[in-house]
Amino acid sequence: MKKSDTEQIRAANRVDIINALRVFGPVARVDIGRITRLSPATVTAITSELANQGVIAEVKDSTPTTGRGRPRVLIDLNPNHAYVLGIKLSINEIRLMLGDLKGNIIAESVVTAKTQAHNQDSLNEMLVSQAQHFMAGYPEQAKRLVSLGIAIQGFVDVHAGDVVWSPALNMRHVNLTLALEAAFNCPVDLANDANCIAYAIHKQPDFANCRDFAVLMIGYGVGGGLIVGGELYSGHFGAAAEFGHTKFSHEGPQCACGRRGCIEAYVADYALYRDASAVMDLPATDRRHPSEKQMSRLTQLARDGDVAASRLFHQAGKALGFGIANILALLSPQKVVVTGPGVRAFDQMQAGILEGIEDSLIPELIGRADIIQYPWSQDMTGKGIIALALKHFR
Ligand SMILES: [Zn+2]
Repeated sequence: MKKSDTEQIRAANRVDIINALRVFGPVARVDIGRITRLSPATVTAITSELANQGVIAEVKDSTPTTGRGRPRVLIDLNPNHAYVLGIKLSINEIRLMLGDLKGNIIAESVVTAKTQAHNQDSLNEMLVSQAQHFMAGYPEQAKRLVSLGIAIQGFVDVHAGDVVWSPALNMRHVNLTLALEAAFNCPVDLANDANCIAYAIHKQPDFANCRDFAVLMIGYGVGGGLIVGGELYSGHFGAAAEFGHTKFSHEGPQCACGRRGCIEAYVADYALYRDASAVMDLPATDRRHPSEKQMSRLTQLARDGDVAASRLFHQAGKALGFGIANILALLSPQKVVVTGPGVRAFDQMQAGILEGIEDSLIPELIGRADIIQYPWSQDMTGKGIIALALKHFR
């Protein structure tokens, strides 16, 4: 074996140990071997190197022991060893988040800004100055900043760092990584928000052994993220898993993307509220963004037995089920996880989802995948972009 090969293997093993500690830490040394399937000798060599560099530290096991023996020594990542900056760009809002080495968001700031009023240069200037202003409040952490990550709703080319199209901007094909890379002299990643959420779920201990699954985000739009072989799948052109704009019916209702009959045009909040308003007496709303209160009220109407509301959620479930059937047939995943604010109505869509899947596929192709909902929380995009940025720490 060439020297470079052994170095590569050692570097990969080091990353495996860091990742295992980020998901499961603090743990005993012996557990690291079990999780990573590395030999005790390799674990000992790499953990002592990491300890010497201050990347990991020993912590006392706080769980009570029954025996009289000494408390077990556990090891964990030293959260203060390195930091990343996450930026979430959405319509008229920039959220800045400081993440530590364990992936915790330890500080955040929300800036209101007219995101749609910018051109490429002024948008990048604003992002750089906001990021610099935010980091100036954390001078010690700024010295240990490893990388930045930006999350945005819409189509992105992750390889080029370009936003191809986003509802948060009024222009297409905008690079958002080069100016920040130059200003901070570190790598900057761009990711679609649904991909960030898929990655955040992938980093949960419950999903540690799940290497092939799809995440569907429903709510203000419909997005998707694919974890294939334990990695986020971006595709050759960097914009994979645009699930919301795959079709349910090419002559169906209007979608925000400009085409008709996309799954999003049945399932997104704006689509459900628009179609409900056509047949029910509902309060007027922002056409593209019905409020959480309005969507909860519509969901409750269905739950209380309103026939028109129930029919709409069932139809939305069916469109989602058709899309899920395509994922099952194409990828044979272990799970399909539905999350996002739209899971508030998962119970109202569930029968439609199953009907859509069963209408689409023979049982042999449906297979044994779990179709599950995952509780939604606002900070999942932030956690995902922080986790993606931390891939640069090696
Ligand atoms: Zn569409």
